Amino acid sequence: MGLMMIAASLAVISVVITLLFLYEKDAREQQIRAQGVRLVRLLSGMSVPLLEAKGEAKGVLGVLQQSQNDPDFAYAVIVDRDGRPLNEITREGTIVPPAPPPRNPSAWLGERHLTVAGSGRTLTEFHAPLLMNGRLGGFIRLGYYAPGYRMLVQRLPFFASLALPVFLLAPLFYFLVRREIRPLHLANREMERFLQQGTFALPDMATSGEIGDFMGSFTRFVRMMQARVEELESRHSGLLTSTKVLSFRRARIEAVLHAMPDALAVLDESGTVSFVNARLPALLGKPQSEILGHTPREWCVIPKVVAFLSRYEAAGAGGVATDTVEFTPPHAGDKTLSVSAHPLFAGESRASSIGTLVLFRDITEENAGKHAHAEFIAQVAHELKTPLNTLKMYSEALMGPEGASEGFRVEGLNVIHDETDRLALLISNLLSLTRFELGGLEMKRQRVRLHELLADAFENIAQSGRDKGLHFHIDVPREMSPVFIDKELLRIAVNNLLTNAIKYNRPGGRVELTAEEHDDAIRISVKDTGIGMTPDEQDKIFDKFYRAENAQVRDKPGHGLGLPLVQQIVYLHHGELEVRSERDAGSEFIITLRKDTGILKKAV
Ligand code: ADP
Repeated sequence: MGLMMIAASLAVISVVITLLFLYEKDAREQQIRAQGVRLVRLLSGMSVPLLEAKGEAKGVLGVLQQSQNDPDFAYAVIVDRDGRPLNEITREGTIVPPAPPPRNPSAWLGERHLTVAGSGRTLTEFHAPLLMNGRLGGFIRLGYYAPGYRMLVQRLPFFASLALPVFLLAPLFYFLVRREIRPLHLANREMERFLQQGTFALPDMATSGEIGDFMGSFTRFVRMMQARVEELESRHSGLLTSTKVLSFRRARIEAVLHAMPDALAVLDESGTVSFVNARLPALLGKPQSEILGHTPREWCVIPKVVAFLSRYEAAGAGGVATDTVEFTPPHAGDKTLSVSAHPLFAGESRASSIGTLVLFRDITEENAGKHAHAEFIAQVAHELKTPLNTLKMYSEALMGPEGASEGFRVEGLNVIHDETDRLALLISNLLSLTRFELGGLEMKRQRVRLHELLADAFENIAQSGRDKGLHFHIDVPREMSPVFIDKELLRIAVNNLLTNAIKYNRPGGRVELTAEEHDDAIRISVKDTGIGMTPDEQDKIFDKFYRAENAQVRDKPGHGLGLPLVQQIVYLHHGELEVRSERDAGSEFIITLRKDTGILKKAV
């Protein structure tokens, strides 16, 4: 800014000097013209001889030369009417430029501009006619140089005295301006720092005047803006935190919905699907893109379901309660699905629904379970009814006249005794099975040496079988690793298998009980040479109440609960049950139990 002020003051000085110089030059030219015209007129009135006089006494021109002190005077020449010089006086070093005399009388008196040969300087020449006896005798020519820079040099002290105060005023003005704009300068520096570092603190500036007022307002404005920015920043960070919390909650809710065992969809107020969990596309046999963002009538082909969901489409579905319908999906005809809709409400107000939660469930197994349960109850009733009928029949007969017969009384009491045993066994098996299935049975596991257990069970059962002419064989090594089992439950399982081996055997047949120790397990096998089973029968023998449809089986007492009980007991011990059988050749049931290792015990 200082340099600019120096340059500006120099420019002002130059302009002032130029204008003064031009003014002076103009004034000087006017002065030369006035002087030249006056002098040429004066000389024009004089006689030619007086003007022509040369030599020591140079006549009028000599006087003129001596008295001439005009610095711009160039020459005075007397010429004849053809322009030939008759007498002349010149300034030193000046050659009079040749110029033809004016021909036209109207131009005899006048002025013209000429150029001096050699120096190239311009001059103004004033000329006038010289009359002799009333006739033109010649011309007087007076030349003056055009005023030049010499005049500038002469006026230098004046210009210098004029420039000095301007020069002195410039720095003063500069310092005053600097002082006034200092607050602007400081504010600018702060803003620069703010741009570089991101920190901003306007300093307190003690300034007065208009700039001071402006800076005061500006500072207040900036502080207000700073406060506003800080407030907005804190609001922004608050909003950011809320957004994060909201998106976390949303992600958590979505994770919960995805993890739900049922397939679900959320319909918005207009009935468009706005969310589906991962299970829905697989259950409906449609890609997610065909469901999400569409209304049910766009992706569902079952009119019953579309009509059901349409009830929840309208925004005012607040009045529609939760409901369920069942249907069979077209892509899986053996399945039964249920769809239930639950209106969703914002907060406590149940005035209008904000959407609908739609749950789809595969109820195929549930329905099958219900069916099986009903069947089970019917079978139990049937199994209980048969012995009860027999009991009723004999007890009524015993109370009647037949009861008087000793033989009938003995027979009747035997039947009642046997049927009561059968009933007790049936009820005990039913209870055990139900307890296993409900998980209510407490196992009493202990380290058991199988030899004693199996030998004891075998002896008890074999006794009754020997009466039927069967051959019994046992092969259980004495030294076997102990197993960690419930002794009484395993005894029931082995008893059931041995009972079946005897029951479904043929006269003279064979029953074998063997045990083998392997690396990590012990295998117990109950083998017979009885009626055997077809593969089809083998598939069903573990179903409750199943009995083969042939007379050899139906003639024997039984309820079809023995093998399901064996299977439950083996599974409770984390063992395996295998059956190998051939029709009319015999059957073998193999129980595999893990050996009692430390790790196994801990796992159990
Ligand atoms: P139950 O013996 O009371 O009929 P189980 O559950 O013990 O009931 O057996 C179911 C069915 O399995 C029997 O009815 C029979 O048809 C078949 N079964 C079981 N064990 C044998 C076997 N050792 N030989 C041939 N068939 C058998």
